[in-house]
Amino acid sequence: MKIDVLTLFPEMLNALNSSLTGKAREKGLYELNCHNIRDYSKDRHKKCDDAPFGGGAGMVMMPQPIHDCIEAVDPNHLAKRIYMSPRGRVLNQRLVKELSEEEHLLILCGHYEGVDQRVLDMDIDMEISIGDYVLSGGEIPAMALIDSVLRYVPDVLGNSESTVDESFSQPLLEYPQYTRPQEFCGLCVPEVLVSGDHAKVDEWRREQAVSVTRKNRPDLLESK
Ligand code: SAM
Repeated sequence: MKIDVLTLFPEMLNALNSSLTGKAREKGLYELNCHNIRDYSKDRHKKCDDAPFGGGAGMVMMPQPIHDCIEAVDPNHLAKRIYMSPRGRVLNQRLVKELSEEEHLLILCGHYEGVDQRVLDMDIDMEISIGDYVLSGGEIPAMALIDSVLRYVPDVLGNSESTVDESFSQPLLEYPQYTRPQEFCGLCVPEVLVSGDHAKVDEWRREQAVSVTRKNRPDLLESK
């Protein structure tokens, strides 16, 4: 998979060089290119934002540098072009999986009050939100999207089963997990997990998954 990120702060994406996403990049399992939108500004001061028409607080990202950057990175519109935005479709595991089947993602990160609507209308395929709250820029949402999508890219996860059982892969949250030691601060691992009875372990995990989902996210059970 190829991922192009368009941003005013490319250095923020360096966080993807750690952990799972960093290892996957080193192994060549995906290609990540970050493009500084400012490099495409035709303004002599490399200005990329201006006051909103109609008045109001803050600044708006100008269309020219973004449009030219998109044209340079994806001239034939082969990529799925995404704008990270609190107004977008809310990201969930189904959408993550869908996006993992794309060969090329182009992700636009906004800042300030957002992006001039004309460039969104002309150049963007979909807007995606990572939740009903507002961050100051699209880079953290873009990294959340990239991390979640890469988990479905073949060989990125050490154990290919890992996405099968986890939260949201069924309409349930994950059951509680335990590791060594068997007793910690006087608290023991549930007996069934050390029983060696795999059918019982599966049954217990299923019951726990339903119970934690009912407690924390009853809406998931209703949408089944
Ligand atoms: N004025 C915008 C509004 O009310 O919808 C908010 C702009 S926000 C301060 C600046 C940028 O952060 C946005 O252009 C977007 O790229 C990103 N952003 C903020 N919250 C986000 C979210 N929940 N999901 C995805 N991107 C978000």
